[in-house]
Amino acid sequence: MSADPASVSVTTLRGVGSKVAEKLARLNIYTLQDVLFHLPFRYEDRTRVVPIGSLRPGDAAVIQGEVLLTEIKFGRRRSLLSRISDGTGTVTLRFFHFNAAQKTSLERGAVVRCFGEARKGASTLELIHPEYKIVGANFKNEVEEHLTPVYSTTEGVHQLKLRDLTDQVLNYVDDLHEWLPDDLLNRLALPNLSEAIRCLHRPAVDISVHELTDSRHPTQQRLAFEELLAQHLSMRQLRERMQSHHAPSLNVTGKLQQQFLASLAFSLTGAQQRVVNEIQKDLQRDIPMQRLVQGDVGSGKTAVAACAVLTAIEAGYQVAMMAPTELLAEQHYKNFQHWLEPMGLNVAWLSGSLKTKPRRESLASIEAGSAQLVVGTHALFQDEVVFSKLGLVIIDEQHRFGVHQRLALREKGSRQGSHPHQLIMTATPIPRTLAMTFYADLDSSVIDEMPPGRTPVTTVVIPDSRRNEVVQRVEQACRAGRQVYWVCTLIEESEALQCEAAEDTAKALAEALPNLRVLLVHGRMKAAEKEAAMIDFKEGKVDLLVATTVIEVGVDVPNASLMVIENAERFGLAQLHQLRGRVGRGSHESSCVLLYKNPLSRKARDRLAVMRETTDGFEIARHDLEQRGPGEVLGTRQTGLAEMRIADLLRDQDLLPLVEQTATELFEHWPEHVEPLVQRWIGDATRYGDV
Ligand code: ADP
Ligand code: MG
Repeated sequence: MSADPASVSVTTLRGVGSKVAEKLARLNIYTLQDVLFHLPFRYEDRTRVVPIGSLRPGDAAVIQGEVLLTEIKFGRRRSLLSRISDGTGTVTLRFFHFNAAQKTSLERGAVVRCFGEARKGASTLELIHPEYKIVGANFKNEVEEHLTPVYSTTEGVHQLKLRDLTDQVLNYVDDLHEWLPDDLLNRLALPNLSEAIRCLHRPAVDISVHELTDSRHPTQQRLAFEELLAQHLSMRQLRERMQSHHAPSLNVTGKLQQQFLASLAFSLTGAQQRVVNEIQKDLQRDIPMQRLVQGDVGSGKTAVAACAVLTAIEAGYQVAMMAPTELLAEQHYKNFQHWLEPMGLNVAWLSGSLKTKPRRESLASIEAGSAQLVVGTHALFQDEVVFSKLGLVIIDEQHRFGVHQRLALREKGSRQGSHPHQLIMTATPIPRTLAMTFYADLDSSVIDEMPPGRTPVTTVVIPDSRRNEVVQRVEQACRAGRQVYWVCTLIEESEALQCEAAEDTAKALAEALPNLRVLLVHGRMKAAEKEAAMIDFKEGKVDLLVATTVIEVGVDVPNASLMVIENAERFGLAQLHQLRGRVGRGSHESSCVLLYKNPLSRKARDRLAVMRETTDGFEIARHDLEQRGPGEVLGTRQTGLAEMRIADLLRDQDLLPLVEQTATELFEHWPEHVEPLVQRWIGDATRYGDV
């Protein structure tokens, strides 16, 4: 029995010294096993010479033919063109960079063998900068014996180097450890691991490139399954580790909560009540709660959070509540002040923009424990913030943070040896496929009922050319006593330009609607100014609020019944849904106007249609996932977290129930297989922080 490739360093390979090893580390390659799992991301078929006449645009192929004519053309760009024929058809090789020797070698009558991708040219198909060599007329052999793998590379480790390394390592492929139990493999009729790996590095000629490109080949499915399993296992490990910690058991009579509920103008919906009970049960246990509450915009998550807050306070603990933006955090702060201060409780505020003195006061009250609830932004988790007795952390609108940040926050909240309970609230419904893969460490509750008396928002999609009609609509709504949001954003990414655009729009609208009170709020205004503007709007002192996307989450003004979103084609579905959620919060008929500029891309047209047809957050999230992919939806593209090597959450979602079931079996019967599987696919480099 040879050594396990998982524990043999790449430096044992020919041609890998410490320099190359350093470069390979950038590809997360440290061991022989890592090389084996560095799979090609595409393939080329160089196993046969294709008749030129059968080439189609987009085909990448090997051809061989005789040069008919080679000339330099002085068009928009100087280029060397060489026309080749093999009797079945002709094709043109095009070079933008070339030298005199090249032109000479491609003389009329020379026979060339080329590899390249065919594109439509002016008269014939063209191969742009193909690989080529001049060969003899009788040159027949020398095709590859298997499909050519193409690996992702890094500076200093190019394609041929990776091919050489994989050639070497494939000698050890049979030593790879099979961590999936035989019984399971038989049941699923999955191919053997070493076969699968060998096949993907050096696919046999009878496998089509197309099948491999779509990743539907059984060997790929086998590996996709293992990768999804490893991802799921890593989240479950995280959960197990978290559950091995101790948390304060919050046993209370519930009198503060009752007092609070009695003071509300409404009673909780059945769904809110159910979720409150689920949270309550978690809080009574002496292991940390890790619960995700999903509730569509306007479903009343804040009141649910308040119930949890009061349980912790009644038990004598502090609560930290964090929101992703200053505006949203401020709104929570005001809300909770309004609810809790009459009950004799103390709410503190902490944000990055707080001045030195009030900041010091806040920090002191948090440390002394006199602040029972602290509301704020990320600033809550800076090192100087020391809680006296933190029992519960609430994170609102988690979708703005991303998985990595969520886990980092969990660690921060967990210092001082104590592990507070954690409640995460999100208005972005997480499709089940994503939830199972990336949120498997959390329990989940859904508020699947809206407070009574809401009328669904009607959505219309209107081209920018009919802007005047929309302006009239605004006037009508305001004349009827309602209020209106007008959201503008620009194509440009710069915040300064966006604010400028909002200013221009506000000016134009104020001129067009002289009887209305128009106010502007944008991201560059000081926090106090923004807040003053929002308060004026909330109190009805303003009819029309022109805003950038700062109002995206959480803003709550029930009298607002119309929302206009400019350049709606530029927004993603999740963001449009969030924005639209600002209206339809009261009992008035509400509508949302999506203004767009032509021409619309097909994707943009689809998005707007989805928005017009449904207000169901889950439905919208599903479309969003399909359109943008999991990395974008989870907000983790930068961290690379959602980038899997071979699995694709959409394509492979059918595997997920089996993944979940297998994970449970492994934990139960083969717990020692869990860590090696996670290590193989996820490794240390991209691993979540320890908790
Ligand atoms: P979200 O889930 O989007 O955070 P909020 O907590 O901001 O929603 O609640 C939206 C609005 O609904 C608020 O004005 C809130 O007071 C109100 N609300 C919450 N629960 C109920 C309820 N059970 N009945 C009536 N109104 C409610
Ligand atoms: Mg909210």
